Amino acid sequence: MTDQFSPEQRSWIMRQVRSKNTNPELIVRRLLHRLGYRFRLHRRDLPGTPDLVFVSRRKVIFVHGCFWHQHRKCRRGSMPASNTAFWRSKLRRNVVRDAKHLATLKALGWRSLVVWECCTKNAAQLSRRLTDFLQ
Ligand SMILES: [Zn+2]
Repeated sequence: MTDQFSPEQRSWIMRQVRSKNTNPELIVRRLLHRLGYRFRLHRRDLPGTPDLVFVSRRKVIFVHGCFWHQHRKCRRGSMPASNTAFWRSKLRRNVVRDAKHLATLKALGWRSLVVWECCTKNAAQLSRRLTDFLQ
Protein backbone atom coordinates (compact mmCIF):
# COMPACT_ATOMS: atom_id res chain seq x y z
CA MET A 1 0.00 0.00 0.00
CA THR A 2 2.50 2.62 -1.07
CA ASP A 3 1.14 4.44 -4.13
CA GLN A 4 -2.57 4.08 -3.94
CA PHE A 5 -3.06 6.80 -1.31
CA SER A 6 -2.60 10.53 -1.46
CA PRO A 7 -0.39 12.09 1.24
CA GLU A 8 -3.49 13.29 3.09
CA GLN A 9 -5.02 9.83 3.01
CA ARG A 10 -1.74 8.31 4.06
CA SER A 11 -1.36 10.52 7.11
CA TRP A 12 -4.99 9.99 7.98
CA ILE A 13 -4.45 6.23 7.84
CA MET A 14 -1.34 6.44 9.96
CA ARG A 15 -3.32 8.25 12.61
CA GLN A 16 -5.83 5.41 12.62
CA VAL A 17 -3.29 2.62 12.72
CA ARG A 18 -2.87 0.94 16.06
CA SER A 19 -0.40 -1.75 16.96
CA LYS A 20 -1.34 -5.05 18.53
CA ASN A 21 -0.95 -3.60 22.02
CA THR A 22 -3.31 -0.72 21.55
CA ASN A 23 -4.11 1.55 24.40
CA PRO A 24 -7.70 0.34 24.84
CA GLU A 25 -6.45 -3.22 24.96
CA LEU A 26 -3.88 -2.34 27.61
CA ILE A 27 -6.58 -0.66 29.66
CA VAL A 28 -8.67 -3.82 29.58
CA ARG A 29 -5.69 -6.03 30.38
CA ARG A 30 -4.58 -3.92 33.33
CA LEU A 31 -8.08 -3.78 34.73
CA LEU A 32 -8.51 -7.55 34.50
CA HIS A 33 -5.15 -8.12 36.15
CA ARG A 34 -6.19 -5.86 38.98
CA LEU A 35 -9.43 -7.81 39.28
CA GLY A 36 -7.37 -10.97 39.60
CA TYR A 37 -8.16 -12.66 36.29
CA ARG A 38 -5.63 -14.67 34.35
CA PHE A 39 -5.75 -14.96 30.60
CA ARG A 40 -3.84 -15.70 27.43
CA LEU A 41 -3.20 -13.16 24.70
CA HIS A 42 -3.86 -13.32 20.96
CA ARG A 43 -4.47 -17.02 20.58
CA ARG A 44 -3.91 -17.61 16.88
CA ASP A 45 -5.50 -21.03 16.98
CA LEU A 46 -8.90 -19.48 17.70
CA PRO A 47 -11.07 -17.74 15.09
CA GLY A 48 -10.20 -14.05 14.85
CA THR A 49 -7.17 -14.36 17.17
CA PRO A 50 -9.05 -13.08 20.24
CA ASP A 51 -7.18 -10.44 22.21
CA LEU A 52 -7.80 -12.08 25.58
CA VAL A 53 -8.57 -15.76 26.11
CA PHE A 54 -9.87 -17.33 29.32
CA VAL A 55 -9.25 -20.96 28.54
CA SER A 56 -10.86 -22.68 31.53
CA ARG A 57 -13.95 -20.45 31.29
CA ARG A 58 -14.08 -20.92 27.52
CA LYS A 59 -14.53 -17.21 27.05
CA VAL A 60 -12.79 -14.65 24.88
CA ILE A 61 -12.67 -10.88 24.74
CA PHE A 62 -12.05 -8.75 21.69
CA VAL A 63 -11.02 -5.14 22.14
CA HIS A 64 -12.14 -3.44 18.96
CA GLY A 65 -11.13 -0.06 17.57
CA CYS A 66 -14.32 1.84 16.78
CA PHE A 67 -13.13 2.88 13.35
CA TRP A 68 -11.61 -0.29 11.93
CA HIS A 69 -14.39 -2.46 13.25
CA GLN A 70 -17.11 0.11 12.56
CA HIS A 71 -18.76 0.62 15.91
CA ARG A 72 -22.36 1.41 14.98
CA LYS A 73 -23.76 4.76 16.06
CA CYS A 74 -20.36 5.71 17.41
CA ARG A 75 -18.71 8.99 16.46
CA ARG A 76 -15.37 7.24 15.97
CA GLY A 77 -16.97 4.66 13.72
CA SER A 78 -18.04 7.16 11.08
CA MET A 79 -16.85 6.88 7.50
CA PRO A 80 -14.16 9.26 6.19
CA ALA A 81 -15.64 12.05 4.08
CA SER A 82 -13.39 11.42 1.09
CA ASN A 83 -12.88 8.24 -0.89
CA THR A 84 -16.03 6.88 0.72
CA ALA A 85 -16.56 3.99 -1.69
CA PHE A 86 -13.09 2.64 -1.00
CA TRP A 87 -13.50 2.85 2.77
CA ARG A 88 -17.01 1.49 2.70
CA SER A 89 -15.92 -1.73 1.00
CA LYS A 90 -12.75 -2.06 3.04
CA LEU A 91 -14.45 -1.55 6.40
CA ARG A 92 -17.42 -3.64 5.35
CA ARG A 93 -15.02 -6.57 4.92
CA ASN A 94 -13.77 -6.11 8.48
CA VAL A 95 -17.30 -6.13 9.84
CA VAL A 96 -18.23 -9.25 7.90
CA ARG A 97 -15.06 -11.00 9.04
CA ASP A 98 -15.70 -10.05 12.69
CA ALA A 99 -19.23 -11.44 12.52
CA LYS A 100 -17.94 -14.68 11.01
CA HIS A 101 -15.37 -15.08 13.76
CA LEU A 102 -17.94 -14.53 16.51
CA ALA A 103 -20.29 -17.06 14.92
CA THR A 104 -17.53 -19.65 14.58
CA LEU A 105 -16.42 -19.16 18.18
CA LYS A 106 -20.00 -19.60 19.34
CA ALA A 107 -20.35 -22.79 17.30
CA LEU A 108 -17.19 -24.08 18.97
CA GLY A 109 -18.66 -23.40 22.41
CA TRP A 110 -16.81 -20.20 23.23
CA ARG A 111 -18.54 -17.14 24.60
CA SER A 112 -17.32 -13.79 23.31
CA LEU A 113 -17.42 -10.23 24.53
CA VAL A 114 -16.56 -7.27 22.33
CA VAL A 115 -15.22 -4.27 24.20
CA TRP A 116 -15.27 -1.15 22.05
CA GLU A 117 -12.46 1.35 22.26
CA CYS A 118 -14.86 4.14 23.28
CA CYS A 119 -16.13 2.03 26.19
CA THR A 120 -12.73 1.78 27.85
CA LYS A 121 -12.82 5.35 29.17
CA ASN A 122 -15.08 4.65 32.11
CA ALA A 123 -13.19 2.24 34.36
CA ALA A 124 -16.07 1.56 36.75
CA GLN A 125 -18.49 0.72 33.98
CA LEU A 126 -15.90 -1.37 32.18
CA SER A 127 -15.08 -3.34 35.34
CA ARG A 128 -18.75 -4.17 35.80
CA ARG A 129 -19.13 -5.37 32.23
CA LEU A 130 -15.99 -7.49 32.42
CA THR A 131 -16.86 -9.15 35.72
CA ASP A 132 -20.46 -9.76 34.58
CA PHE A 133 -19.15 -11.47 31.49
CA LEU A 134 -16.54 -13.54 33.28
CA GLN A 135 -18.67 -14.71 36.18
ZN1 LIG B 1 -17.21 3.36 19.71
